[in-house]
Amino acid sequence: MSAAPSTVGEAMLHARQAAVDRLDALLLLGALLNQPRSWLMIHDEAPLTLEQASRFQDWVARSAQNEPLAYLLGEKEFHGLMLEVNAHTLVPRPDTETLVDWALELLKTAALAQPDVVDLGTGSGAIALAIKHRHPTANVDALDLSAQALLTAKSNAQRLGLDIRFHQGDWWAPLKGRRFDLIVSNPPYIAAGDPHLAALRHEPLQALTPGGDGLSALQTLVEGAPAHLRPGGWLLLEHGFDQADAVAQALHAAGFGAVECRRDLGGQPRVSGGLWRGRA
Ligand code: GLN
Repeated sequence: MSAAPSTVGEAMLHARQAAVDRLDALLLLGALLNQPRSWLMIHDEAPLTLEQASRFQDWVARSAQNEPLAYLLGEKEFHGLMLEVNAHTLVPRPDTETLVDWALELLKTAALAQPDVVDLGTGSGAIALAIKHRHPTANVDALDLSAQALLTAKSNAQRLGLDIRFHQGDWWAPLKGRRFDLIVSNPPYIAAGDPHLAALRHEPLQALTPGGDGLSALQTLVEGAPAHLRPGGWLLLEHGFDQADAVAQALHAAGFGAVECRRDLGGQPRVSGGLWRGRA
C-alpha cells in the first residue's frame, strides 16, 4: 500500500492512481473534511490527520471495487430527503423519483382527505418517506421482508419526523384484509442471469432480483393488488427498461384500466401503473 496521503493534493493523487472518479474523490474528501468542492480545489496543501488519511484510503479502496459512494458516505439524497443507507438497503435511484412524482400527482388529483398508501419492499424507506413528506395527510404504510432494511427505514422516518407504519413480511402477507387508495413498489426485477448484477454486487441481491426472468415479484404485486385496492385506487410499479409490455399485459389481465407507462430520466420506460375500478 502507498504511503498515507498527508494533504488534499496527495489524497486526490492517491484516488487517481486507484482509478477512482475525480468527482467521487472530491465528494469523499468533502465529507471527510466537511468542506465544499470549491474549497478543496484551491487547498491542495491542506493537511489530513492520520485518521482522515486512513479513512480516505479505505474509501478509495472500496470505491475502486465498485462499492457505491452512498454506502461509503452512509447516505443518499432522494426526492429532496437525505436518507441513511447501508448494505441492507438498495441505494435509492433518481429514476425512482419518476414513481414518486406520479404517486404525488395521483394523490393531488384524488384529493382524498386521508388517502391510504402502501409501499411494498420499502428498503431504506425512500418512496414511502418521499410521499409522506410531500403529501403529509396520507396514511402511509411500508413493508419489507428484511428486518435489517426496516431498521434503517424506521431510523430514517424517525430522524425526518415522518410518521409511517412499518411491517415486516413477504409482499401481501402483512396486509391481510386491508385496502388502499394507492399501492406503490420498486420490487426486485432484474433477471437472474443479467450481467449488470455483477456491478451491483454490493447491494442486497434480494432487492435486485427475484430470480428467473425477473418478473415474478412484479407478477405477485399485480395479481395481489385488486384484493387490496379500493375502487378508484391505483397501482404503480417500477420495472426494468424492457419489462413495460409484460407489466402492461399483467395489469390488463388482472382487470386494471387506464394502464400507462412513464419514462425515467434516461428516457427508458420505467414505471407502469393502472387504475382499479372494482370487480366487474
Ligand atoms: N433500477 C435498479 C438498477 O437497475 C434495480 C432496482 C430494482 O431491481 N428494483 O440498477
